[in-house]
Amino acid sequence: MHEATVVANIVDAVLEELKKYDVKKVNSVTLKIGDLTQLGTEQMQFAYEILTEGNILKGSELIIEAEPVVLKCDKCGYQGPAKTLDQGDYSGHQIPILSCPGCGGEVEILEGQSCCVKSMDIETGDE
Ligand SMILES: [Zn+2]
Repeated sequence: MHEATVVANIVDAVLEELKKYDVKKVNSVTLKIGDLTQLGTEQMQFAYEILTEGNILKGSELIIEAEPVVLKCDKCGYQGPAKTLDQGDYSGHQIPILSCPGCGGEVEILEGQSCCVKSMDIETGDE
């Protein structure tokens, strides 16, 4: 399960970061996850619940913000979303086509590959 590995790395990084503060409670952790990562939101939520059992993140909410794919074409100057191939199942996942929707040329991927912590909502002892 790819999601579990990704979430384990994120939880480790968040716990490391939280050591810098006098954290009383963590309300939520917000992630930015690019559409190109093809990570399942439900699987990530499930992994998060298990991986935060027994540490300060227990009970906090995992908020996942999707980052849409943005492509850039040097040939024709197109910049915008990718066309997608419908996967045909009912998962709601769509596979982006990584060539220019305008001219079919090679594109540079500007956005959609993120997999990072965007923000954390914590309560510290100072308040
Ligand atoms: Zn183009």
